[in-house]
Amino acid sequence: MQKNAFRSLALLLLLLTLVVVAEIGLTHRNAYEATQAHERDRVQHDLADMRLTVSGYLEKLTRDAQLMSRSTVLGLYLSDPTPENTTHAEKALQTLSMLRGDYDQTRYIDQNGQEKIRVDRENGQSVLHRQGLQNKSDRGYVQTGLQLGAGQVLVSELDLNVEQGVIEEPHRPTLRAVAPVFLDGSRRGLMVLNIAADELLASLRVNLPAGSDLVMLNATGGWIPGGGALDWQFMLDPSARLSAQDPALWASIEGQHSGSFERLGECYHYEWFQTTGDGVQAPKWLLAQRRANEPCAAAAAEATQIAAKRIAITLLIALPLAVLWHQSRVKSRRFQQALQDQQAELSMIAQEAGHAMIMVDRQCHVLWMNREAERLLGWSEAELVGKNLHETIHLTPDGQPVHAGLCPTLNALETGERHGTDRDSMVGRNGQRWVFSTRVTPFGPAENRKAVVAFADVSTHVALQQELAVQAQTDVLTGALNRRSIVQNLQAALDDPTQTPCVLALDIDFFKKVNDTHGHQTGDQVLIHFCRTIETMLRKGDLLGRMGGEEFLVVANTLSLADAMGLAERIRAAIASTPCLCSPDTPIAITTSVGVAQPHVGETMEQLLERADEALYRAKHAGRNRVMMAGAAIA
Ligand code: GH3
Ligand code: MG
Ligand code: MG
Repeated sequence: MQKNAFRSLALLLLLLTLVVVAEIGLTHRNAYEATQAHERDRVQHDLADMRLTVSGYLEKLTRDAQLMSRSTVLGLYLSDPTPENTTHAEKALQTLSMLRGDYDQTRYIDQNGQEKIRVDRENGQSVLHRQGLQNKSDRGYVQTGLQLGAGQVLVSELDLNVEQGVIEEPHRPTLRAVAPVFLDGSRRGLMVLNIAADELLASLRVNLPAGSDLVMLNATGGWIPGGGALDWQFMLDPSARLSAQDPALWASIEGQHSGSFERLGECYHYEWFQTTGDGVQAPKWLLAQRRANEPCAAAAAEATQIAAKRIAITLLIALPLAVLWHQSRVKSRRFQQALQDQQAELSMIAQEAGHAMIMVDRQCHVLWMNREAERLLGWSEAELVGKNLHETIHLTPDGQPVHAGLCPTLNALETGERHGTDRDSMVGRNGQRWVFSTRVTPFGPAENRKAVVAFADVSTHVALQQELAVQAQTDVLTGALNRRSIVQNLQAALDDPTQTPCVLALDIDFFKKVNDTHGHQTGDQVLIHFCRTIETMLRKGDLLGRMGGEEFLVVANTLSLADAMGLAERIRAAIASTPCLCSPDTPIAITTSVGVAQPHVGETMEQLLERADEALYRAKHAGRNRVMMAGAAIA
């Protein structure tokens, strides 16, 4: 039992653990996948934001450059550079500079690379410079720009100004839009707009999620922002590029339009960006955001960690609970088993007990009965269940109650106390009345009280008791009352004021001779014959008792002394004239002497009997076979 309980507990715990792990694992995997999908969406959304920001920015720039390169005022200035036309052109460039606060320089450069009109943005003002105009023919953007066809526009690399091999401080990230200026089909120069790209970088950063950094690399792997100390260093040192530091990584990045990569334990989500269309030649940039101090697998690792924690916590709570639950189940099973065993035992005892048993509810309706009860009453349990017990067994077939008051069962149900009787009359199914010994034991709360009626057949017992009682009062040989009984009856009659008994003391004459002549056994028969003869002469209520040997006493009920004398005489005569036919040879004739006495007032029974004996004695002396009346009280 112990071993089984332990095994089932171990199995239960194992199952529980598996279920918890599977459930949480599954839930978490779903949650993790949802989070991942959400994260992917977010990253894509962020990257799309960056893309839109940059393309909006470039669109403004290129459109301005194209617009300006084709403007009428610039055409007039080129075809007829009068001071007035020059001023108009200068004003146009100044107006654009003022409109766009972020244009550092707005210039027209001729096809020799010479700056012709130049407006600088200085301290929030658009300042036209007529002096200090430079030749920029050595600059890449000028050289490339002069290769462009009509309508084309070049967007330069994003870079910083370098003066004599040193990056100008503070950094002023700059982007140029260069549009060729054609007049009458021939190239005349370039419209060059320098835009301070700080604002672009700032607006790219605005929408980044917390904990993310902006990363931008140019097409050759040079860090723009996001490389820390390496930012902009590509301008001076080609080895400061990511492509040089990690060529394999760079190759994989170049091969994918968008994706993620990990570098120095941090995760980058990137997308290549390049504005195309409308004759725009623009550099290619890698727009990326980097999760600071977080590897790409961090989310997965974190999800696993969370799942593990949840599993551990759940198991920590669930395991002791499961153990407790299991223990209580084992206990309750044992308890139930014990209860069932006990019920089976009780039911067996109830069935096999010598007593008949019936259980009734508060309304005395039968709930249950055992086989002995079925046997004694003749009713089957199925017939009696639901019926009122009292109305079934305590009423005669014609509806008369067999109990004067409340029967023990109703009494017990009423009072909640045990009730019983050794003489409970019950009516069986066939209408016959039985006497049972009944004990009724109530139980349960008053409103829902029940009772068990246990009863046993005492008919034989009663008969036996009656038999014993008779035996105790009777003389074994003659069947007359014995001495104790006749004396008790006499005393009772003397004590009863409604009665006036007389006593007749009788003694068989010469009985010894009968014994001697015919034997003791015949003597016994004579004694029996003597009694039977007297009994035929007695009235109802008269009693005959054997006082001992061949001496008898008749207690004659309510007789006057004269009547008693008459009775004694009739007895004497009947005995004398009725020989005993007990001997096969000859009938045995006997006689009897009788002393008759009537009680005196205040006389004791002993005194009365003494007086009767005295009269009897006198009858003997007078010759036997005669009746003598007792005299006055003996002194
Ligand atoms: P009397 O006329 O004076 O009464 O003489 P009796 O012989 O009857 O009186 P006695 O007292 O001398 O004898 C009584 C006898 O009765 C003696 C005894 O053996 C006999 N006897 C007493 N009880 C029984 C009995 O139960 N059965 C038999 N067979 N004889 C009994
Ligand atoms: Mg005698
Ligand atoms: Mg005698």
